[in-house]
Amino acid sequence: MTKICTCCKQEKPLTEFTRRKFVYKGVERWGHKSQCKPCHTEAGRVARQANLEKARAREKELREQRKLNRTPEQKEKLRLKFLAWNTAWRKANPDRVKAAKLRHRDRAIERKRERYQEKIDELRAKCHEYYLANKEEINERHMKHYQKPEVKERLRAYQQAIRPQERIKARMRIRNLDPNYIKLMIRRNIGLPAHMVSKSLIETQRLIVQIKREVRK
Ligand SMILES: [Zn+2]
Repeated sequence: MTKICTCCKQEKPLTEFTRRKFVYKGVERWGHKSQCKPCHTEAGRVARQANLEKARAREKELREQRKLNRTPEQKEKLRLKFLAWNTAWRKANPDRVKAAKLRHRDRAIERKRERYQEKIDELRAKCHEYYLANKEEINERHMKHYQKPEVKERLRAYQQAIRPQERIKARMRIRNLDPNYIKLMIRRNIGLPAHMVSKSLIETQRLIVQIKREVRK
């Protein structure tokens, strides 16, 4: 059995035509489309190109819909598939993994720093708590450590080496009323540990120091 395509006018076997349902005299029957499979594909491609934006939007919607309709089993299967693919790719492309790591390193460091800053008070509080609970033990350990001749020597050499830069930094901290300097001041004056000093308290203390400095001038 053959059929002539209405588009390319070629005679082709019926298997070259997509089957479709149609209604003839109120009865549903199975037949074939009038265009052959290649012509049908081409017509679809042309229609898509003619209305590309709309087609893309529809395709996106379909993709989203399919995503939503996935069962948990399908999701898990996809996850494992992606994982296996990813592992294989990383094994096959070590150079590119390394390059990507280098590319993202600065950003990763920056993000790590940000996360640390967000949690810094919490971490300091934990540290302080631990210190209070183990005060004697920690102090004794420190004492012993700093009594060692090699440690003493190392510390002396280090302090001598960094002294000039550290002095400049410390002077700048004092001049600019750096938050860390203010915290140190509060700790010295009222004995409040650094992690318990709030931002508003720092601001207040800074204002007080500023006023004092103005008055002294
Ligand atoms: Zn055709």
